[in-house]
Amino acid sequence: MGGCHRKRQLYIRRVDQAGIKIEPLLPHFTPARGNLIHFHIKNFIDNEGDYVPDPMVPTDLIKQFTIPTDYIPTLKTELERGWKVFLQWKDKTTVTWDRNNLIGTEHQILMPLAPPKQNFGYSYIQQSDMDLITKNEIVDFKFGKKAYLGKYKWQLGSYRRAALYAQLNKLSPTGDFRLINVFLGNDEPEEQVHDTKKIRDSMSSFETALVETMEQDALIRYDPKYQAPCSVDIYCAFCGWRHCCRGI
Ligand code: SF4
Repeated sequence: MGGCHRKRQLYIRRVDQAGIKIEPLLPHFTPARGNLIHFHIKNFIDNEGDYVPDPMVPTDLIKQFTIPTDYIPTLKTELERGWKVFLQWKDKTTVTWDRNNLIGTEHQILMPLAPPKQNFGYSYIQQSDMDLITKNEIVDFKFGKKAYLGKYKWQLGSYRRAALYAQLNKLSPTGDFRLINVFLGNDEPEEQVHDTKKIRDSMSSFETALVETMEQDALIRYDPKYQAPCSVDIYCAFCGWRHCCRGI
């Protein structure tokens, strides 16, 4: 959701519509590291703590996440540090992820969205993949340092809406969820429990970005001459389509 509409255009026109097989660039180090730590955390929670990530960079995941082999030594060092921080968090958190409270890890909910005015007959769904949802909390793990980014609020707010849509709050003793970011980028874990009211307030700007994204998507698909705007910024460094993008 949101992000660069030009990237969306490159994928839709070339891969989706024209069926041209274009390989995106190999993943940047940061998402590769994020994918691996999430894999280990999921296994740890699903196995009720009976899991040791050995090796830190499993061979099958190198293939699955197309991780360049020259990343591996640094990845291993960073993951070992991050894993220690995760275990510290596990020992002191109040998040209730035991068998009686766990709803799921990497839990997916698909929620139909109200179409925007300019939809040209296309319909949209919101896909939410929650790192961890319990009867009491929705938790998103970040490998980086603690940050107060609006997009983190949007992410948790959209997860909460999806959970309410799926009526998972009926399982909750309070009828709602605490919304939590866990940052693993420092030597100590940092848990940020968000104010649900502030998250709700931030959702009007999320709604605007969501409608714009759906409208851009519909225009790209409907009008082959339409050029979606691109947003050249720091996130271009993570974009797998840099080799196709003229950035104008
Ligand atoms: S390189 Fe930047 S401007 Fe180009 S598609 Fe990717 S994110 Fe968009």
